[in-house]
Amino acid sequence: MDTQTTSAVKKALDTAKNLVVIGHKNPDGDAIGSSLGLAGFLRKKDFEVTVVMPNEFPEFLKWMPGCDDLLIYEKQAQEVQKTLDAADVIFTLDFNALNRSGDLSPLLEASEAKFIMIDHHQQPDAYAVATYSDASMSSTAQMVFHFMEALDGIPLLDRDIATNLYTGIMTDTGSFRFSATTATTHRVIAQLLEHGAVPNVIHENIYDTASQNRMKLLGVALNNLTVLPEYRTAYITLSQEELDAHDFRKGDTEGFVNYALAINNIVFAVIFIENRQENIVKISLRSKGPFSVNQFSRNHFNGGGHNNAAGGRSLKSLDETVREFISILPQYQKALIDA
Ligand code: 5GP
Ligand code: MN
Repeated sequence: MDTQTTSAVKKALDTAKNLVVIGHKNPDGDAIGSSLGLAGFLRKKDFEVTVVMPNEFPEFLKWMPGCDDLLIYEKQAQEVQKTLDAADVIFTLDFNALNRSGDLSPLLEASEAKFIMIDHHQQPDAYAVATYSDASMSSTAQMVFHFMEALDGIPLLDRDIATNLYTGIMTDTGSFRFSATTATTHRVIAQLLEHGAVPNVIHENIYDTASQNRMKLLGVALNNLTVLPEYRTAYITLSQEELDAHDFRKGDTEGFVNYALAINNIVFAVIFIENRQENIVKISLRSKGPFSVNQFSRNHFNGGGHNNAAGGRSLKSLDETVREFISILPQYQKALIDA
């Protein structure tokens, strides 16, 4: 974090007492880990801190230290409203446009609190008095570590903060293998281990707690895999019926899209997941190399994210969405072949 941003943060916190930390809609390991980690640090600095998420988070994160105390707007709207009314400063973590906070978005737009953004997605909006935005970072959790460093806070690291930050970094880097994993990422990880994070336990909590249904659903997903070698593309579909037949729980499809990307010579992978409740098809896009799924999703599927990992949605049926996707691919054939 540069000195200008550090000064802006210090100024915003100078007279503040009540802080709120918010992650994005459909929070993932990084949204929860960075938010809980930051909250732990700020509490040690004697602030009143409440962590708020727009909606429910996946079961496989429900062991994370402090996660029982966070408020979920979808379930606790009044408490969240009260907390936001009292907030002097609102931290927005792991997102950079207020509409990524889902139904919380109008409340944030209306809030008179000062905003501080910590985020690693591209193209940040300008709503914060301090914008710590760096798209080269592995994760927002790593940025929270650097945020603590800038405020001379590393001595305040404890096991819970270290565990939350480790989890955010681990999940957002695909266990330290995605391209944004740097030597600095590993140096941060080393310090988190020194402060009590236990890698094998965290890894097991996240990756070895699947239900039988989730594993069988993965079987269905792999069975539905289509490979388009001429575009170096592979995609997976899951219909609402298939999800229902496997007692789908939030988070069950996390990581499925990576199997499509694991095929030799594939550089672009997509999973289309029908969601009848919201009347959308949720789309997750992943790539290897220069092909930007952020741009692809922005152009065609009302989404965005990073170069190599993005999300989006379609209001069409599952079949129509897939047909539309296939019809778009020829425009990108050269980029995909050259990738
Ligand atoms: P996922 O496929 O796991 O939902 O999302 C992949 C990445 O893209 C995550 O970093 C997520 O925060 C980001 N992302 C997902 N959906 C959207 C979206 O609609 N807009 C933007 N800007 N980013 C998104
Ligand atoms: Mn992230």
